[in-house]
Amino acid sequence: MLGDREREMQHALRRRVRPLLAAGRGDGLDEPELIEADVQEHIEVALIQIKGETLERVREALTRLDRGEYGYCVECAGEISEQRLRALPFAVRCTACEALHERDAAEERRFASATMFRSVFGNQFGT
Ligand SMILES: [Zn+2]
Repeated sequence: MLGDREREMQHALRRRVRPLLAAGRGDGLDEPELIEADVQEHIEVALIQIKGETLERVREALTRLDRGEYGYCVECAGEISEQRLRALPFAVRCTACEALHERDAAEERRFASATMFRSVFGNQFGT
């Protein structure tokens, strides 16, 4: 299933990249057309980037599959439930570790903003 997904994605990527390479830098176009082409190009590049990231995750999943690590949590090495994998085929953490991970990330953000607050307003309050 993952192999099919990867082939399909590589195919879609190639289809998008080829005309971009062939088009070059828009020689012979006057200004408005050039801007139009530019916007189009940016959209294309953004799409390629998104697809590229997904492709990367598929590759990672395949690598993990090869090593027999697929479906196991990277934190606690416990089995990731089938239900979770169906919903998130690229999940690398079990539900419990993912919840912890997200809480840590949220705490880091809170800590960062508190530090920022003190560095901006700290002296005014005499702390
Ligand atoms: Zn875990």
